[in-house]
Amino acid sequence: MAQLYDRVAVIGLGLIAGSMFYAMKRAGLAGEVVGYARSAETRDTAREIGLCDRIVDTAVEAVEGADLVVLCVPVGAMGAVAAEIAPALKDGALVSDVGSTKAAVIEAVAPHLPDGVHFIPAHPLAGTEQSGPRSGFAELFDNRWCLLTPLEDTDADVLERYKSLWLQMGSMVDEMDAAHHDLVLAVTSHTPHLIAYTMVGVADDLGRVTDSEVVQYSAAGFRDFTRIAASDPTMWRDVFLANKDATLEILGRFTEELFALQRAIRKGDGDHLHDYFTRTRAIRRGILEAGQDSDVPNFGRNAK
Ligand code: NAP
Repeated sequence: MAQLYDRVAVIGLGLIAGSMFYAMKRAGLAGEVVGYARSAETRDTAREIGLCDRIVDTAVEAVEGADLVVLCVPVGAMGAVAAEIAPALKDGALVSDVGSTKAAVIEAVAPHLPDGVHFIPAHPLAGTEQSGPRSGFAELFDNRWCLLTPLEDTDADVLERYKSLWLQMGSMVDEMDAAHHDLVLAVTSHTPHLIAYTMVGVADDLGRVTDSEVVQYSAAGFRDFTRIAASDPTMWRDVFLANKDATLEILGRFTEELFALQRAIRKGDGDHLHDYFTRTRAIRRGILEAGQDSDVPNFGRNAK
């Protein structure tokens, strides 16, 4: 595989930046990857474990001379980081981000970027509940979608090269506009996370989460909720604040359906419940057929 960028800068050194570094190295896509994170502790850890070819102490230093700059910080921090690096960006450089919401990031970042600098927002649909500089791994993006939300005037060659980066890091790539992205993700990721946070919160309110029986006998359902609800609080706070409208829209629909199911249970309407669960089961089958999950029992995880 051919090298695509001579110098890449990653700002923020957590799960996504780390995984990008290892995936780029695996495929020989970047000459040098320079990394920066705001805390000295994270930078020290990165140096210790060899995360990035070079770790520098300022964001400005990181982006100097970089052909590609990827912002890998929480969504709410993107604007401030863009403002800080803007004067140091190389003419012709591509700036991207990996934020989980897109419209708010474009609004926060685009106004800071100087003429002659390209901007292509990205969102890899790949993650774990782990965060920080030690959490990245080369295979994170393998066979997972990366959604690009290019702006109208995006240069075709710059876009092709960036697409190629994600493809060669293992992803499948699709393009859509930012508002559509935010609605789709509100359905597939953001609202489910909120529901998981809520369910674990409810169990906690009942004082039973740490009860050994609940932990011992928790089936995959509740266990999966606790795994999702262990996701990084800062990242997810920012996601909901940034994707407010779409999340509230989907949450409204969710609440209506929940009330309908609640009513069916109260009235003993078994047909309603059965029809509903039959429909949702078919959706799961569709996900398996699309190769987006495993059909081995318990998603391949050990039930213990
Ligand atoms: P992470 O592991 O928590 O790392 C976040 C990095 O951002 C850290 O280096 C942190 O610096 C830095 N940071 C945090 N707050 C900051 C601030 N206010 N200003 C400047 N830097 C700040 O995060 P991640 O999971 O890689 O997520 C990074 C981005 O990818 C987020 O926008 C997220 O929405 C998106 N994303 C995440 C996932 C996922 O599942 N995790 C999936 C797709 C996209 P310190 O270490 O110095 O504190």
